[in-house]
Amino acid sequence: MLLSYILLNLVLAAVTYAVNFPFESIQLNGKDIGDFAQISFGRDFNGSSSSDACKAFPGTSQWPLNAIWAQLNTSLNGALLQPAIPASACYDGPEKDTEKCNYLLSRASGSRFYLDDPITVLTEWPTGDTCPTMAKPTGSCTRGGFSSYVVDATTVKHIQTAVNFARNQNIRLVMKNSGHDFVGRNTGAGAISIWLHRLKSFEFLPVYRQGEYNGPAARVSTGLEAWEVYKYMKTYNISIVVPAGSTTVAPWGGWMQGAGHSILASKYGLGADQVLSLQVVTADGSFVTADTETNQDLFFALRGGGPSTYGIVTSAIVKTYPALEVSNVPLSFSGGTSAIPIETFWAGVDKYHLIGKNVTDVGGSAYSYISSSNNGRSATFSTVFELAGMTKQQGFTYMQSHFDSLNAVGIPVKNTMPISSPSWMNARDGVGDAPGGSSQFSSRLFPVQNFDDPALFRPTMAAIRQSVEAGYRFHGLHFRPSLDKAGYPGTAAIIPAWRNSIMHADSFDSFSMRGKTAVEIAESRARHNIYMDRIRAVTPGGGAYINEADVQEPNWQDSFFGGTYERLAKIKKEVDPWNLFWAPSTVGSEAYAVRTEDGKFTQNGPLCKT
Ligand SMILES: Cc1cc2nc3c(=O)[nH]c(=O)nc-3n(C[C@H](O)[C@H](O)[C@H](O)COP(=O)(O)OP(=O)(O)OC[C@H]3O[C@@H](n4cnc5c(N)ncnc54)[C@H](O)[C@@H]3O)c2cc1C
Repeated sequence: MLLSYILLNLVLAAVTYAVNFPFESIQLNGKDIGDFAQISFGRDFNGSSSSDACKAFPGTSQWPLNAIWAQLNTSLNGALLQPAIPASACYDGPEKDTEKCNYLLSRASGSRFYLDDPITVLTEWPTGDTCPTMAKPTGSCTRGGFSSYVVDATTVKHIQTAVNFARNQNIRLVMKNSGHDFVGRNTGAGAISIWLHRLKSFEFLPVYRQGEYNGPAARVSTGLEAWEVYKYMKTYNISIVVPAGSTTVAPWGGWMQGAGHSILASKYGLGADQVLSLQVVTADGSFVTADTETNQDLFFALRGGGPSTYGIVTSAIVKTYPALEVSNVPLSFSGGTSAIPIETFWAGVDKYHLIGKNVTDVGGSAYSYISSSNNGRSATFSTVFELAGMTKQQGFTYMQSHFDSLNAVGIPVKNTMPISSPSWMNARDGVGDAPGGSSQFSSRLFPVQNFDDPALFRPTMAAIRQSVEAGYRFHGLHFRPSLDKAGYPGTAAIIPAWRNSIMHADSFDSFSMRGKTAVEIAESRARHNIYMDRIRAVTPGGGAYINEADVQEPNWQDSFFGGTYERLAKIKKEVDPWNLFWAPSTVGSEAYAVRTEDGKFTQNGPLCKT
């Protein structure tokens, strides 16, 4: 391990003077550490590296004594929390609170409650579903896969202290930002969770130079949510690439680190392509800058190489663009009716996928859903085209030929005047997310050739149709984030398949995992994979999008990372020789696995070496 420390120090150039925001100037120093060796930096800690089979777990002799936790809390100036799971208010026990339970059941989902809660994660199944919100719960509420402690981080010092403590004490560490993760990378039984949500700062830089970049940019911190960035975009009359699907995702948390698609992806590339510089707390507790000139490997890996793997991003400097009008055109039709027989419906769906390619060619994107019922005899289709850089009139004119082509195959739809971006930018003002999610879905990136070559197009559409007729809802997202759109700094850890794809799609399985056994869940996944395998077979080299995928994707290393996996695994070993940052199906995660009593693939159990 000593050699690892030396290598790590050579690998990471600590540039502690470079900060984007005041909260980053407050850093851990020797005086803060004093004689509390448990929070020493990786390079200084004299304790032995753990040879234990599992990370320390509550109830075992490795778990720190209360006095140590109290000392940690003192070092954190009281930022160490042990939050109750909100739904515990609905269960018999010390936290029972009928009024709060009623609030959770009736009003919390329309508020900021869950988003501002330190422990809630929005996808519930990874916690083991041990404490769902219910009016009349039958069982008991246990902590399950929720973290044991939360560090309410408002300074870099808080993050460094938590990182050092977790590493030195061999305790599982997780990070939670907006809590949107779909696959449980933001929670874990027996973990310390660093809550990054309150790190919200922004500064517009009209002129910024970095490497070959010379243009406008913005300093952004990791806790910002997309809707908050929309407000800054309005104030400064600029555009920034952030997610639009949910206005409460944290763009510079998991979104960017997994790649980050948006309605501007066909124009400016992915979220990870926007980053010019990052501020990062690394696994040894250092606070460093990563950009094209400093800590280049870390800079490469953090942009698309998967969240919760290489370090904790506190802030970034990202490119900004002139304000852009985005025209929004909805389209929907149903099949299996007298007006649209089912074969005509599918001819319309085929036509739509050719239109989708054309839309990405002009810098646009589209978000469609296809589902079927009545044993495939009925089906519905809906989509929204997002035409970046087009006025309403331009959007209307551009769409006319596409509506004509749908009419020509028998789909009687009418072009309407688009809605433009100002109403989109104010969407929901950051309220409305609530925990849910007891089902899974699977992802595929579709190469452009599948829509160019009729010999590939036919089997592609047949595989999509078969999956829909088998009962899986298909969600297609058209983007073209090719390297020429991405611009400077270019090379990033994003799976190369994204560059050659024009559609990312999720296939949703409606099977609810709640209350099901591990065997039933595995059988359901196997049924779904029959149809996913057909889609995979017609999209060779396509890959899958790590942020919106099945965490048990077959051959996940190749599907999520493609040709970059080997390089990323090497970087992971160099920057985190302790495997401190761990999340399922991320680079290097093969070294550990969660041991669950019920055999399910959740975060409800100790994290142990494999
Ligand atoms: C409703 C909804 C809409 C979505 N829309 C889109 C979309 O339009 N485009 C798209 O590409 N994706 C979208 N996603 C997927 C989204 O990209 C992922 O869920 C992503 O992981 C969210 O990141 P987060 O930081 O906001 O969430 P969290 O759940 O808080 O974190 C997700 C992961 O990132 C890690 N992480 C967070 N912050 C940091 C940090 N600062 N440093 C290191 N690791 C960190 C966490 O540990 C965790 O592993 C959507 C998800 C949902 C639920």
